[in-house]
Amino acid sequence: MTDAFAERTRRCQQRLDAADADALVLFPSTNLFYLSGFREHPGERHLLLFVPEDDDPVFVVPDMYGEQIADESWISDVRTWSDGEDPLSLVESVADEFGLHGGHLLVDDRMWALFTQGLRRTLPDATFGLASEVLDHLRMRKDGGEIEALRTAGEVADRARRNPGTRRGRHRDDGVRTGRRDRSPTVDAGGDELAFDTIVGSGPNGAKPHHGYGDREIGYGDPVVLDFGAFVGGYPGDQTRTVVFAGDPPERYEEVHRAVLEAEQAGVEAAQSGVTAESVDRAAREVIESYGYGDEFIHRTGHGVGLDVHEGPYIVEGNDLELEPGMVFSVEPGIYLPGEFGVRIEDLVVITEDGCERLNDSPRTWQAL
Ligand code: ZN
Ligand code: ZN
Repeated sequence: MTDAFAERTRRCQQRLDAADADALVLFPSTNLFYLSGFREHPGERHLLLFVPEDDDPVFVVPDMYGEQIADESWISDVRTWSDGEDPLSLVESVADEFGLHGGHLLVDDRMWALFTQGLRRTLPDATFGLASEVLDHLRMRKDGGEIEALRTAGEVADRARRNPGTRRGRHRDDGVRTGRRDRSPTVDAGGDELAFDTIVGSGPNGAKPHHGYGDREIGYGDPVVLDFGAFVGGYPGDQTRTVVFAGDPPERYEEVHRAVLEAEQAGVEAAQSGVTAESVDRAAREVIESYGYGDEFIHRTGHGVGLDVHEGPYIVEGNDLELEPGMVFSVEPGIYLPGEFGVRIEDLVVITEDGCERLNDSPRTWQAL
C-alpha cells in the first residue's frame, strides 16, 4: 500500500507543476489520507502536510503524533512541535526551506479557518488556491484497490437490503435508526461503520430527498425510501431502495416507481467511457419527463463516491467532464410528490473499458423482501 500512496503523491506533484503551484498544504482530511496513508479527524492543533512541487513531503505535527505517523505513513520527514510552542514558527521554517514565502499554495478545501488564517499570517506574500485543483483529477480515477473496496461496500449494502431489519416489530420512521434496527442492517452485513445517517422517509417524508428519520408511524401502504451504506476499508456503500412493507401502496405509486426504475436503468446504460457526466443525467431525466414527472425530479442524477460519500464527478447538467474507466458514481433518480410520497432508486457504478459495472445488485422491486 505504501507504494500506492507514494505513487499518488508523485502524480500529485506532477500536477502541481502543471498548475503552476509550489506546494499543497493539507490538514486531517480524506485528501491527507489519500496521499499519506495517515487518517485522523481534524483537531485544534496544527497538523499539516506540506507537499512541495519537487521535494519530499513534510509533516508538521504535534509531538504526540510523531510516532503514530512514523508507523502509519510512508512519509518519513515528520517535524514535531510541543504544546506551549508556536507551531507557526515551524511552518515558517518549512516555508523558508522550500521557498514558499512568495509562492502559490493549494490548501485543503475543507481546512479550518483557524489554519488558513495562520498560513496567511505566516506567509503574507503567498497566494492561495484549493487542493481540489490538482487532487480531484486523481481522486476521481480510482485504482484497483479502491474499486475492490467499493465493490465490497456495495456487496455489504446489498446484504443489508436483503435483510433490512425493519420487517417485524414497530414500524416507525425511525425504525432502522434506533437499537437493533439502526446499525444492524448495514454494519451487521459486514460494514465497519455507517457511511452516513440512514435515510428512512415514509409516506410524505419520502418526498423530502434528505429527510433523515423521525418518529412518524409507518402506515399500511406507505412507500418508504431507504438510503443506506457502510464504510468498508475506508470506502462507502450508498444505495437507495423504495419499498412498501405491508398493505397496498397509493394509487400513483406503481407508475412512479416504474418511471424511476426505468430512469435508473437508462442512466446506468448511458454511463460509459467517453460520454459526458451530463449526458448520464439527461438519459435518466428524459425517462422521468416522458412520464410527466420532470418537475418532480428535483436533484442531480448522481455524485462521485470514494473516500468521501459525495465527491466528483457530479452527474449533473452543465458538467461536460468526459467519463473514464475507474470513475465511480451513483445513479439515483427520484420523483418527489409533496404531501404524498417519494421514490428514489440508487446504485453505484464504476466505468469500465466497455461500459460500466454496477457495484450494487440487490432487488429493485418495491415489494419488501
Ligand atoms: Zn444514497
Ligand atoms: Zn448518493
